[in-house]
Amino acid sequence: MVYNQHSTETISTATLYTLSPKTQPVKLTMGNSPITMEDQQTYLGVTFDKRLTWKQHIMSAEAKARRKLNIMRKLAGTNWGANEKVLKSVYEGNVRPHLEYGSSAWFTAAKSHDQALDKVQNQALRIITGAMKSTPIARMEKITNIPPLCKRRECKAMIQATKYKCLPNHPMKDRLKQLSSDRLKRSSFTLETRALQRKHQEHLPKQVQPIVGRVFTDGSATNATTNGGAGVYIEYPNGEKQSCALSVLQALSNNKLPQLERTIYSIKSLKTVVQWIASHCGIIVNETADKLAKEGAIQDQEENAVSFTEMKTIIKSLYNTPQQQDSYHQLSRPEQTIIFKLRTEPNRLNQHLYRVMKVIPSPMCPCGEAEQNTEHFLQTCKLHLAQRQKIWDMGPTNTHKGKTGSLENLQKTARFVVETGTLV
Ligand SMILES: [Zn+2]
Repeated sequence: MVYNQHSTETISTATLYTLSPKTQPVKLTMGNSPITMEDQQTYLGVTFDKRLTWKQHIMSAEAKARRKLNIMRKLAGTNWGANEKVLKSVYEGNVRPHLEYGSSAWFTAAKSHDQALDKVQNQALRIITGAMKSTPIARMEKITNIPPLCKRRECKAMIQATKYKCLPNHPMKDRLKQLSSDRLKRSSFTLETRALQRKHQEHLPKQVQPIVGRVFTDGSATNATTNGGAGVYIEYPNGEKQSCALSVLQALSNNKLPQLERTIYSIKSLKTVVQWIASHCGIIVNETADKLAKEGAIQDQEENAVSFTEMKTIIKSLYNTPQQQDSYHQLSRPEQTIIFKLRTEPNRLNQHLYRVMKVIPSPMCPCGEAEQNTEHFLQTCKLHLAQRQKIWDMGPTNTHKGKTGSLENLQKTARFVVETGTLV
């Protein structure tokens, strides 16, 4: 709200914005200083423009991220420098935060704005992998296990929507429940997150508990680390005993399992003891508990409300794919770039340069026997027979092994490429 000094009347900012550009703007002053109209305002690092297109915010985020990309460029070239792991952590720690800051606020920005941010991530992926310009983005995302920015934004928006629902007095809470009154069906946080929840409803619990004050424990259980194992050990009046795993004990002390906590406290007739127990070493109590736990796990579970923390973990798991085991990640920078180019099509072998890039007159290998592609180059080209015999003894049995096999195989392949003097 903006106050006019000469009258007590308040003029809402919304009214001011509806003035057409031709209309003389209302002059506002505070004391003797004029109050100027601004088309955008930054609050907590997020730039709000008057039509909420988020263009200014995204442009400045892009510029900041691009400046940070230079750090990555200084750290590695195609044949030297930091390996994938280091570059990836620089990207995730220094560049990506700029591309994502406040994303649940500008979640509904136009696709063209989002694409500007995607371009920065794609450049980072090329620096991390040392790949050529035309390399498919999906291949780079897969090898580095860096998801597309839009997927991460979706994940964050879903978590944010869940948080609104869990907070008792949040103004967004009711809006998320209401049916949309906007006949034009413009993109909004409410609509988008509702659509995402429908998309993933099969995998999401139906009920989330409200967030109430945090319960602090004395932390005695969280400090516990052991090789043997720890457990919640319950002794029943009839002499039956039960234990559960260290993770459960930790979750209990972190207030992540409020239901179990309530259940334990509610069993007044029982003596509940939290105690260390060595695991799987023949103690009858423990073995019995394990057996009971396994039996319980295969029974139908009733659907209970989950806590916000649990829900957050479930949502994140929908978007996270575990990194695949690959010896590629243990290679040095020059080895990594060579192997990546051999695996993905854009490389500097004649077949690709001729057929896709169309920059040379023939796809043939200098040996004249076949087109120069990865398979011919690694396995059959007679020009490189000496290096092949030296490095592989009798030559790699197949290209697949040389490109995706063990660490030793990958290193041998990279050495072979270097010794033949061929640029891939
Ligand atoms: Zn050849």
